[in-house]
Amino acid sequence: MLTTGDSILQVAHEAGFAVPAFNISDYAMFAGIADLCDDLKSPWIVAIHPDEYDHIGPDFIPAVLARAHRSPVPMAIHLDHGAHHDQVLTSIQHGFTSVMIDASLKPFAENVAITKQVVETAHSVGLSVEGELGTIGANDSYGEAGAAEITYTVPEDAVRFVEQTGVDSLAVAIGTFHGLYPAGMKPELKLDLLKEIKAATNIPLVLHGGSSNPDDEIQQAARLGINKINISSDIKMAYHTKMREVLAQDPKIREPLAIQPDCVAAMNEVAAHKIRLFGSDDKADLYS
Ligand SMILES: [Zn+2]
Repeated sequence: MLTTGDSILQVAHEAGFAVPAFNISDYAMFAGIADLCDDLKSPWIVAIHPDEYDHIGPDFIPAVLARAHRSPVPMAIHLDHGAHHDQVLTSIQHGFTSVMIDASLKPFAENVAITKQVVETAHSVGLSVEGELGTIGANDSYGEAGAAEITYTVPEDAVRFVEQTGVDSLAVAIGTFHGLYPAGMKPELKLDLLKEIKAATNIPLVLHGGSSNPDDEIQQAARLGINKINISSDIKMAYHTKMREVLAQDPKIREPLAIQPDCVAAMNEVAAHKIRLFGSDDKADLYS
């Protein structure tokens, strides 16, 4: 069923698991993930970044909403990394049920002011807002624009930020990078910092850029207070790596129905692994 980001995340916050937010900008990938989440009884979030939204266009949204309405599991449609108030407002008009405003590259006071304005707008129509404090590094040109270095979230600042803005969930910087990691780079999550931020804020926390972090760290983070994990690069790599193989095998292959199913299966293998790692499989029952 279609629901809001907040109603999905509050249950995860109370029960101690993380909901996957899959970045989607393609119909075959969307339908594949939706079927998988139905099968695994996992609540999930369709995340669409503004660049992805430019690619797929607003007419894609009614199809997502229709699929959500006939799904047995809770689904929300979320604007990932909204850049400014008007962009968030437009997404709400188009039917998004959850939004993020990311002003984390701005100074603290400016981040607060921008986020607060979005919170007032979204709350007035019953929707929740994810803010971001601290910066998550970016690794390659396909990672979301951001700082090259991680600025870790400071727990006391997180408390002030939540109080001053009224955000419903918070993306924190605890040691992840956007995009795929270059060979030789060893990402490490600061799980003690996560525990401190969780205890201090007591709201759903969000992890961006978790592609390629070690499984056990991600699993622990999902038990220690992260309630939404964004997955983008990992599923896209699985899908298109398989597509390269399929296309290479037969130079004349051309029908999407002959090409895409194997790609969806490869993507869903990765997605299913993430869902189990996050502990969101079989959690749909908690929402009834
Ligand atoms: Zn992100």
